[in-house]
Amino acid sequence: MALVNEHFLKLPSNYLFDDIAKKVNVFKTQNPKKDIISLGIGDVTQPLCPAVIEALHRATNEMSLASTFRGYGPEQGYDFLREAILKNDFFSRSIRLDKDEIFINDGAKSDTGNFQELIRWDNSIAVTDPIYPVYIDSNVMIGRAGTKGEDGRWSNVIYLPCTIENGFKPEIPQQRVDVIYLCYPNNPTGTALSRDELRKWVNYAINNDTLILYDAAYEAYIQHDDVPHSIYEIKGARKVAVEFHSFSKTAGFTGIRCGYTVVPKEVSVATLSGERIQLNPLWHRRQCTKFNGTSYLSQRAAEAIYTAEGRKQVKQTIDYYMQNAQHMKNTLRSIGLKVFGGEDAPYLWVQTPGGMTSWRFFEQLLYNANVVSTPGVGFGPSGEGFIRLTAFGTHERTDEALERIKKFY
Ligand SMILES: *Cc1c(COP(=O)(O)O)cnc(C)c1O
Repeated sequence: MALVNEHFLKLPSNYLFDDIAKKVNVFKTQNPKKDIISLGIGDVTQPLCPAVIEALHRATNEMSLASTFRGYGPEQGYDFLREAILKNDFFSRSIRLDKDEIFINDGAKSDTGNFQELIRWDNSIAVTDPIYPVYIDSNVMIGRAGTKGEDGRWSNVIYLPCTIENGFKPEIPQQRVDVIYLCYPNNPTGTALSRDELRKWVNYAINNDTLILYDAAYEAYIQHDDVPHSIYEIKGARKVAVEFHSFSKTAGFTGIRCGYTVVPKEVSVATLSGERIQLNPLWHRRQCTKFNGTSYLSQRAAEAIYTAEGRKQVKQTIDYYMQNAQHMKNTLRSIGLKVFGGEDAPYLWVQTPGGMTSWRFFEQLLYNANVVSTPGVGFGPSGEGFIRLTAFGTHERTDEALERIKKFY
């Protein structure tokens, strides 16, 4: 008899967005004529930019001829894309990295979930709370998170609360931890860390021999000069940090699937006897066995983001979303709501009025304004009392949603 990996049974049966979809469906069944606007799930709405579409057409045509057809590519990605990434995302910021420190992925979710395979099951992990659920759930699956308590916290996970009081910037942990997940600009709170603030985390990691898993999925949304686009802008980070990037939110690649992971050769972890092991060759080895590369088409599409045209077009779309964010923030504040984020990220973190629970406010917005939000508590215990709104809608639908919220409120 095959035995199940019982750690999977500890996971909450539903993914947050399934719960939301269910509630929205109930409402739709009862109110079939109502027009619902979603400011909930973090998916983009604007189409791929022309430079990317042209690259996709070209790559497709190459696939149609025996002379230019491409089969399996290198597991770590094609050089043309790795070189474009190095030049545009790192050399331009005076960050020196080698090509073989860049691993092209099929989106950051897989790699943020998979990377924990490289470290022992009994490492201590810390997460900021609220958090992108993948970090914890992937640790639950291999038994590192322990058991889930009544309060929604996993017994072996150290939670670093992000609250109004600390401006959603968690304090450095009191104890030492082995691994910390950080995501800045942050999903779900939409807040960002300045270079000085991120430096504290890097210094903590250096002093405590801690590994930082840094998710930079929203880097392209940064508007302020003092907010770093990569953790490697901070001195010493290449010894302690692995960084995940995604073209999903940068360039609307949620359906195309492409991103990259940076594993500097200096990053190492220890064996029980204290020998240092580099993570770079280990990740390389892991990928060669479990991953057969990102599609050639997606990689050519990603390369086009870095052309002069591509950069301009991608920026236009990001500006478009950030106009939504600004407008949402101003409008919601004008009706008395407490609103955070939305300055360097496409998310707004809105405090529920009158101490209402996240789910209660979610339902009020759904039933009274027909607007879908995401209950903050779905991202962790400290998310209770907040909802997340995304700026990924069209101007028209976002404005309409705001009008309705204003009217109801
Ligand atoms: C959207 C998102 C990602 C990227 O997911 P992909 O798999 O690249 O589409 C990664 N991290 C966070 C926090 C996200 O919100």
